Amino acid sequence: MTINWFDEHFEVPLGFGITITIIIILLVLVPVLIYLSKTIYVCDKCGCRFRLKWYKCMFSIHMNDDRYLKCPKCKKKSWCSPSYNQNGNNIDIDK
Ligand SMILES: [Zn+2]
Repeated sequence: MTINWFDEHFEVPLGFGITITIIIILLVLVPVLIYLSKTIYVCDKCGCRFRLKWYKCMFSIHMNDDRYLKCPKCKKKSWCSPSYNQNGNNIDIDK
């Protein structure tokens, strides 16, 4: 594997390159997932406030900050916006 850094060329063992790539992906992904799993969403149908597991956030369809989520309370799917009040109190369901 060759890494081009401006006009320099470095020969890097393939395994090392893969390791670096994985570390960079983790460094970018982990803070995003932590942020997502802390975000409180509001159900458009019943108004309940809930948090989601990170993997549910990851695989949900999203448009800007809104996500198409299944409400844990009324079980209906709707576009949920992040709550304006991100205070951890008064969360109806914290799963
Ligand atoms: Zn709901």
